[in-house]
Amino acid sequence: MDGEWARYIILAGLWVFSTLTSALTFLFGDMSFIKFIGTAGARFVVTKQLRSSGGVWLSVGKTNLYIDPGPGALVRCLNSKPKLEPSMIEGILLTHKHLDHSGDVNVMIEAMTEGGFKKRGVLFAPEDALEEDPVVLKYVKKYVEKIEMLKENSEYRIGEIRFSTAQKHRHRVETYGINFKISPHTVSLIADTRFFPELPNLYRGEILIIHVVRLKPIVDEPIDHLSVEDVKAIVKKAKPKLTILTHFGMTMIKAKPWVVAAELEKELGLKVIAASDGMKIDLERDLEN
Ligand SMILES: [Zn+2]
Repeated sequence: MDGEWARYIILAGLWVFSTLTSALTFLFGDMSFIKFIGTAGARFVVTKQLRSSGGVWLSVGKTNLYIDPGPGALVRCLNSKPKLEPSMIEGILLTHKHLDHSGDVNVMIEAMTEGGFKKRGVLFAPEDALEEDPVVLKYVKKYVEKIEMLKENSEYRIGEIRFSTAQKHRHRVETYGINFKISPHTVSLIADTRFFPELPNLYRGEILIIHVVRLKPIVDEPIDHLSVEDVKAIVKKAKPKLTILTHFGMTMIKAKPWVVAAELEKELGLKVIAASDGMKIDLERDLEN
């Protein structure tokens, strides 16, 4: 009987806790966070969906920005727990037009604009994603309130989120990494690129998100992606408080990204983690813990 009572008390406690949390969230808005909807990179991991390929949801105060809505973004948002509602997005950002970053961009714009009936939101994208062989359909483009073309070394703002681009990445299409100025922590995102010497100096956020497709570098790499060796060179120089690896290709998946991250952390003496599908990083927490 005692055990039964203890169970009831625990369940009642959990109920009170979850009700209070929901009420506080409703009253004061959600905390700022980054949610990795998908962590797949490159073709095989994406086409076989060994990992989801939905990109990243960034929420700061009441502003929601969706970054790189790859194939599955809409479904993964609606299925995520708690559910992420695409009509709450104020902006969509494409770092570049490759399909693993843009496959769901049209349907996400449609969801953001409630079927195109509510003209709203901003689309940020490089010129070649919009003009030459565009990934955003002409009729869908009309749904958004504003289109801002990403250019080198430029500043942008959407609601409570300020961000800037650096120089163009070395990738086969026009590609930009992003530096987010988010209080209390700055966040940098190194999107797809081949390594180049200036790279570590361009992204000095306290949290560094890196697209690392390859375990080992390939001589004369035709695809222009970063490997773990490149990540080491970047992290050693940039010294972020927290490095998050994501956008994994097949060789990374086989090597188990969390094992690779733990080895990097040990070698570099800096905090390194591997993103997993659905992982959420609270931007208000202390990064030292
Ligand atoms: Zn790419």
